[in-house]
Amino acid sequence: MTVATPKRMSTRTDLLDGSRAIAREVAAPFAEAVDREGRFPAETIAAAREAGLLSALVPPELGGVGASMRDLAESCTIIGQACGSSAMVLAMHHIQVACIARHARGSAFFERYLRRIADEQLLLASVTSEVGVGGDTRSSICAVGREQGRFTLLKDATTISYGAHADDLLITARRAPDANASDQVLVLAQQGDFTLEGGGAWDTLGMRGTCSPPFKVHAAGPEEQIIPGSYADSSAESMVPYSHILWAALWLGIATDAVNRASAFVRAAARKNPGHVPPTATRLAEVSVMLQSLRSNVQSAATDFDALGDDRAPLQTMSWALRFNNLKIAASEATPAIVHQALQIIGIMGYKNNSPFSVGRQYRDALSGALMVGNERILAKSASMLLVAKGE
Ligand SMILES: Cc1cc2nc3c(=O)[nH]c(=O)nc-3n(C[C@H](O)[C@H](O)[C@H](O)COP(=O)(O)OP(=O)(O)OC[C@H]3O[C@@H](n4cnc5c(N)ncnc54)[C@H](O)[C@@H]3O)c2cc1C
Repeated sequence: MTVATPKRMSTRTDLLDGSRAIAREVAAPFAEAVDREGRFPAETIAAAREAGLLSALVPPELGGVGASMRDLAESCTIIGQACGSSAMVLAMHHIQVACIARHARGSAFFERYLRRIADEQLLLASVTSEVGVGGDTRSSICAVGREQGRFTLLKDATTISYGAHADDLLITARRAPDANASDQVLVLAQQGDFTLEGGGAWDTLGMRGTCSPPFKVHAAGPEEQIIPGSYADSSAESMVPYSHILWAALWLGIATDAVNRASAFVRAAARKNPGHVPPTATRLAEVSVMLQSLRSNVQSAATDFDALGDDRAPLQTMSWALRFNNLKIAASEATPAIVHQALQIIGIMGYKNNSPFSVGRQYRDALSGALMVGNERILAKSASMLLVAKGE
C-alpha cells in the first residue's frame, strides 16, 4: 500500500507527518481487521517501511533520521491512536534499534548493519522473556556457546512479538555457559541464521495483532553479532528507557483515542439538545484530567531523557531506574482506567463492537500494559531500590 508520505523520512517533520499519514491512511482503516483476525498489521508495517520509519533511530550519517526520544514517543502516540498493535510492533522494533545504535557504534559489523536497517528497512523483534525466568529481563538461562569465532544459542522464549514476521532478532543470553544468570549479552540473530520452533496460537484478549506466541529459538552466527559490552549497561541506558517511554507513549495513544471517542459522543449529545450541557460532560472533564496527567508523565520523561544528551551516567542511577519503573506502572494503570472512564461516558454505544464509538479494542489492548513485564515484578525491584536509594 502506498501512503502519501515523504519517500524517505530524514527530518523530524517528516517523522511526525509520516506517522500521521500512516496512522490515518493505513493503521486506522485496518485496525479492526487486525484485531478481529488476530493477524500481523502487515499493511502498517509495509507503509512504515516505505516511509523509512524503521530507521527512525538510525543515525543520519548511516541513512536514518536520528530521532529524539520526544519525537519517537510522539510517533508512537500518533500510531497508537489508530492501532495499538501496530504501534507496539513499531515501538518494539525501535527499542531494539536503540540498543544497537547506542551500544555497538564502535563495531564495523554493526555500523554496516545500521546502514542495512536504513537501506532495507529491516524489522527487528525482541527475545528477552524466557521459560524459567518469565519477565525478569535481567536474568537468562540461555547461554551463548562460542567456537572458532562463531556463536550458538538455544532460547526457550515465552513470547516473541511478530517473531514469525521479523527479519532479525535481538536476544538476551548469558555471556557463556559458566556465566551468572545476570551476566548477559545482547545477540543479533539474522534471517537465515535462526529457526523458530513451535509458535502456536496467540489468541489473546488484546494486542492481538502483535502475534506474540512462545518459540524455541535456535540461532548461530559470527561472534561479531554479539553487541560489545554487557547487557547490564544496554538495559539501564537503552532497553529500559526506550521500552518504558515508548510503551507508555503508545498507551497514551490508546487512551487518547478512547477519550476522543467519548468527546465526540458527548458533543453529539450536546448538539441534539442545544442550550443544555449533557451530564456526561462533567465526566469528560474528569477523564481529560487523567489524560493530561498521563501525557505530561510521558512527555516529561522523554524530554528529560533527551536533555541528557550523550551523558549516560545518570541512567545508571537508582533515581532514573525508579523514574522509568514509575512511568511504566503509572502509564499501564492509567490507560485502562481512562478507557474505562470513556466507556462509562459513552455507555452502550461504547460497549458495542459495531459502533463508531466502540472502545472495546482500546480496552482490551490497554489491559496488556500491566502484564508486559508484570507490574508486581517491577514494583518488587523498585521496593528493593527504595530501601537503599536514600538521597537519590
Ligand atoms: C502484548 C505483549 C507483547 C510482548 N512481547 C514480548 C516480546 O516481543 N518479547 C519478549 O521477550 N517478551 C514479550 N512480552 C513479555 C512477556 O510476555 C512476559 O513478560 C513474560 O512472558 C513473562 O510473563 P508472565 O506473566 O508469566 O510473568 P512472570 O514474570 O513470570 O510473572 C508471573 C507472575 O508472577 C508475578 N511476579 C513476578 N515476579 C514477582 C515479584 N518479584 N514479586 C511479586 N510478583 C511477581 C507477576 O506479576 C505475574 O503475576 C510481551 C508481553 C505482552 C503482554
